[in-house]
Amino acid sequence: NGAAPAAGGAAAGAAPGGAGWAAARRFDDLPISEYSKQGLREAKYINLTAVQRAALPHALCGRDVLGAAKTGSGKTLAFLLPVVEALYRRRWSKLDGLGALVISPTRELALQIFDELRKVGRRHDFSAGLLIGGKDVKEEQARVGGMNILVCTPGRLLQHMDETPGFDAGQLQVLVLDEADRILDMGFSATLNAIVANIPRSRQTLLFSATQTKSVKDLGRLSLKDPEYISVHAEA
Ligand code: ADP
Ligand code: MG
Repeated sequence: NGAAPAAGGAAAGAAPGGAGWAAARRFDDLPISEYSKQGLREAKYINLTAVQRAALPHALCGRDVLGAAKTGSGKTLAFLLPVVEALYRRRWSKLDGLGALVISPTRELALQIFDELRKVGRRHDFSAGLLIGGKDVKEEQARVGGMNILVCTPGRLLQHMDETPGFDAGQLQVLVLDEADRILDMGFSATLNAIVANIPRSRQTLLFSATQTKSVKDLGRLSLKDPEYISVHAEA
């Protein structure tokens, strides 16, 4: 697709409807960094899934997205790729601190997200960490400072925000809530409110779930700015 603009911010602000890459079916056709393309290629990711085709044109332009698609449809890359590209385009470096937070309801899911982040982020130079509890909080505290991307469970993240000296989310660029419906079902809505109170309002928010329930929409109203609603049912 020769119409794809070069990476490096050219796509920011472009209207998906007008850009040639909005209909992209392959990762190679997206206006993303060569580093991401390499990582994706090495992980054998070639074609976009339906939810990735629907969400990426908006998310890569910096818009908030509220996306619903069934389990196994590829939601993880639909938010990790925009996270990595948002920091890359801002020339985020290790010295810039925390740039993106990904919140997941369970440790197991957080670990899976982290594994996927290692693939897509493999050729980038960001630092990334997991905050999922289960270990000594002191051990995590020693490593959390200076991480560019953190994948966390809600309770543990709030604990660090409250107790870890120097934990600073004041420059956060992207917030992701994965499995937002489950986060709410598990009773984390007060925890989420407290987390959101600690991060800047001017940020990109990407919120994904398996179902688009009313409570997820309520949560969306709480923290999203004019989001794109994406719902993919058939075809993975
Ligand atoms: P979800 O979060 O929607 O349940 P995942 O992001 O966990 O789905 O992806 C499900 C599986 O599909 C994973 O094994 C992942 O590696 C794979 N996958 C995701 N996107 C693609 C793609 N574009 N091409 C091939 N496999 C993919
Ligand atoms: Mg998932």
